[in-house]
Amino acid sequence: MWSLDEIVNSCNKTGLSFPEMVIARDSERSGMEPCSVRSIMSSRLDDMKRSMEEALSGDHRGKFVGGEASLLGEYGNASSPLSGRLVLEAAKIALAVSAYNASMGRIVAAPTAGSCGILPGMLFGFEKVFGAQRESLVDALIVAGGVGQVIARRATLAGASGGCQAECGAAAAMGASALVFLAGGSAGSVSHAAGITLKSILGLVCDPVAGLVEIPCVKRNGTLVALGIIGADMALAGIRSLIPPDEVIDAMRSVGNLLPEILKETGTGGVAVTPTAMRLRRLWEDEAKGQGDN
Ligand code: SF4
Repeated sequence: MWSLDEIVNSCNKTGLSFPEMVIARDSERSGMEPCSVRSIMSSRLDDMKRSMEEALSGDHRGKFVGGEASLLGEYGNASSPLSGRLVLEAAKIALAVSAYNASMGRIVAAPTAGSCGILPGMLFGFEKVFGAQRESLVDALIVAGGVGQVIARRATLAGASGGCQAECGAAAAMGASALVFLAGGSAGSVSHAAGITLKSILGLVCDPVAGLVEIPCVKRNGTLVALGIIGADMALAGIRSLIPPDEVIDAMRSVGNLLPEILKETGTGGVAVTPTAMRLRRLWEDEAKGQGDN
């Protein structure tokens, strides 16, 4: 059975850390040596960092999005932002990576392409603001991966099956757990950060305008890092999700099953059918048709 509770109990029994337990279990299931599992995750972290650097290095634009990260960065430098440094830094990275994805840049789908900005935003935002050793970041990515594995097995990570709660919601929960680990929290706090965060985002629909992973996806990546960061802080403060995190994940699955198809990546509900979205869709379709006619 895939369970966060089981990982935490095993950590408490054996004295292994959360990432060590995730690796031990993964190695047992896959038959790979623990060092090989770690080396794969280490290489993924490098890919994620490279993609973030590429995303921040230019003005990458999709059909309807681009430039948000620069605006947020300039605003943060010029004024006294309402959000704290970590939120702002994480959101800037999340916006940049997500827009880079929309421009067909190479990203790490963690857990999906639509939610690809959230984890790098939280991990590298933490590194920039508080400092972190590379090996700790690898461990934090393993923590996030372990949480993501449980969500994938008990529920889903696909917007088409579970709505955006399963993509951006899962990414924010994975990031919250990773941050708790980086901040020195216990295995129990790592698990509760995921539960608190996911519980706060149940029911988020998947409603991409014109079927493109741009609106509302890019800005959702930017805003949801804040949810994950406060979820992490609450868990570090000793606040517990009274609904056990595994049960929250199960609730996410059942909410996803109850969502109508129009709110599951079909682009036929939510913000995707607002008057402006319909106008943008027509614009894009006309343009695509014009290119096809040439
Ligand atoms: S709205 Fe849909 S396509 Fe966009 S990030 Fe969320 S789940 Fe993915």
